[in-house]
Amino acid sequence: MALLAGRDYPKSYAELRAWFDEDWKCLNYLDWLRWPESFVCPWCDSIEGWRAPDRRWRCAGCDRRVSATAGTILHGTRTPLTVWFSAAWHLTSGKGGISATELQREMQFGSYQTAWAMLHRYRSVMVRPGRDRLTGDVEVDEAFLGGPEPGVTGRGALGKVLFAAAVELHSPRGLGRVRLGVVEDARAGSLQKFLLANVEPGAGSSATAGRPTPRPPKGSTHSRPRT
Ligand SMILES: [Zn+2]
Repeated sequence: MALLAGRDYPKSYAELRAWFDEDWKCLNYLDWLRWPESFVCPWCDSIEGWRAPDRRWRCAGCDRRVSATAGTILHGTRTPLTVWFSAAWHLTSGKGGISATELQREMQFGSYQTAWAMLHRYRSVMVRPGRDRLTGDVEVDEAFLGGPEPGVTGRGALGKVLFAAAVELHSPRGLGRVRLGVVEDARAGSLQKFLLANVEPGAGSSATAGRPTPRPPKGSTHSRPRT
């Protein structure tokens, strides 16, 4: 279902401030984003749980208390969520992003450091399509995610998700950035879509899966054996 401005997310800064004027409202929203169908415990995968008075979940499977911010960049922050939400608006509404100095001014932060740290956290998880594809020597691999299903064999085994991974190989050793993505099926075209989105044209790529090296799109990426 497509997200609708004004219904699923605020369509203006004024609306954002009105919707998210208290931290518990932000937390409710994060809860909805993270678990739109039902709560899923990030520790034990249990879907049974109940809301504690502090709006965290109490997992029925492992008895842990789980916040919608658990494991995210907002985990354990001492900055109010209302401030994070407002900052996110400033960060994403400008075409060229925002500098720490600009954010400090917009948010009237007392210190530059606060603005800088906040931007740094946001940027660590932001995806900029096509703008930071992997470069240099890139290794590409595909694998199925999910357990074996009785009676089902072959690459198209049901109940599993095929995903591709691309990783930058540093010379002489070490790994750089990694990109992961779900691919539709095992056909070369599906993998090419993933490559186009995640690997800079011209980057050397190689595949190590137990199958022939997929042919990258013509004129954009070339394969070469891993050395
Ligand atoms: Zn649990």
